[in-house]
Amino acid sequence: MSVYELVVGLETHVQLLTASKMFCGCSAEYNGAEPNSRVCPVCLGLPGTLPMPNERAVELAVQTGLALGCRITTHAHFDRKNYHYPDLPKGYQISQHSAPLGTDGALEFDDGAGSFRTVGIQQVHLEEDTAKLTHGEDGTLADFNRAGVPLVEIVTHPQLRSPSEASAYMETLRRALTWIGATTGDMSAGALRVDVNVSVRHRDQAELGVKVEVKNLNSLAAVRSALAYEHDRLIALLESGGTVRQETRGWDEGQGRTVGQRSKEYAHDYRYFPEPNLPPLALDPSWVDELRTTLPELPTERQKRFMAELSLDHEAARLLARDRPTAQYVEACLAIYDGPAANLAGWITGQLFGLINAARIDTTAALARVPPNNLAELLSLIDAERLTPSAAKAVLARMFEDGSTAPAVIEREGLAQVTSGSALASIVAEVLEANPKAVADYRRSKPTAIGFLVGGVMRATRGQADAQEVRLLLEQALESQDQEP
Ligand code: ZN
Ligand code: MN
Repeated sequence: MSVYELVVGLETHVQLLTASKMFCGCSAEYNGAEPNSRVCPVCLGLPGTLPMPNERAVELAVQTGLALGCRITTHAHFDRKNYHYPDLPKGYQISQHSAPLGTDGALEFDDGAGSFRTVGIQQVHLEEDTAKLTHGEDGTLADFNRAGVPLVEIVTHPQLRSPSEASAYMETLRRALTWIGATTGDMSAGALRVDVNVSVRHRDQAELGVKVEVKNLNSLAAVRSALAYEHDRLIALLESGGTVRQETRGWDEGQGRTVGQRSKEYAHDYRYFPEPNLPPLALDPSWVDELRTTLPELPTERQKRFMAELSLDHEAARLLARDRPTAQYVEACLAIYDGPAANLAGWITGQLFGLINAARIDTTAALARVPPNNLAELLSLIDAERLTPSAAKAVLARMFEDGSTAPAVIEREGLAQVTSGSALASIVAEVLEANPKAVADYRRSKPTAIGFLVGGVMRATRGQADAQEVRLLLEQALESQDQEP
């Protein structure tokens, strides 16, 4: 074990799923829109305009805080965070500093290595997104469609200890907030962007090392790679007798390394003060309570319940609780199917997920192709030995293609299991007849030759026979031939 310990805290910016922007009526749907077509004097920061808070954004931010177990303040207000950058039309960002919406929360997550971990959430606050800058050969282009899109920022305590742990936390956060409908969760479209605060220290050292911030990571892979890179870089720096400076770095995806950008601002550099154009954000406690009681069961809770109630292992339960439509689908199947839950889980996470991933379509639309009734019926046919598992895989693929039921596909394609002894017996006889060499090998005490014969019968039945039964019939036939004069 290394004498150094990695210490990580994350700040995640999440775009809230609202129709309009945080402080004006412009559409918040900027992806694919003509650049600078979704702007108005408010989000362009023109003098004389006044911001109006988006009620739905406040609601989603409170739900986010509640989902993360935060204490929700009834006396939140907005602050100005002052800095100058071309993506910030007003010269300041309306954010929350001294009275954030939520504080003192926690998120429990599956660490991907078979255990559950909990990370403390320092705060959850509301703010507005900046414009999108595109740096090209001819200069930099600014698209203000994104300026003013509502964001929640979620800040953890520095309690994560490895790149994989940070990535597992991010994945659970993404799932939880998508689950409650607060965001699309689409990291590739910029709906979640992560700043990592990272430092290293000797394991026997109590105080934290000087931290470096790597900004704007937009994939879990980038979070892992940037942290692994900083881990090695900071340790090498300390080992060579250097000192770590507090600074902001960026992640260069192509080069696979972080690059220094500027020495880190401190909070006082931003000259925060209360936003004079907005009244305090007074939240009615009974409204907050109502949101708390209507909060759905979240992914980690659902995973734990699947593990406890269905005796599923960690990974199967995690996959079945990967998103809300899937979890609801599983529950609906379980209500109908009376076979073992582990069997159902195996078919969903194996075959059905395979089909869904290959089709590259939205989960809800994909699941609708095989309604719970249809899947339960298919599995019951296997349980009743009217269909072999291998034929059932082919049947499920057809069902997924056109929404047919299992009996309809079986009827259409003649995939029913050949269980009739006489039909199978005549195929067995044909295969023995056609393979004298394998038969002779078997008789010369080469029992492995029977595998070849089983394969021949399975091919002749197009996989619709039961392999165990085939083997038995072959052994019986060879034995009775032995006894013939
Ligand atoms: Zn606007
Ligand atoms: Mn922020």
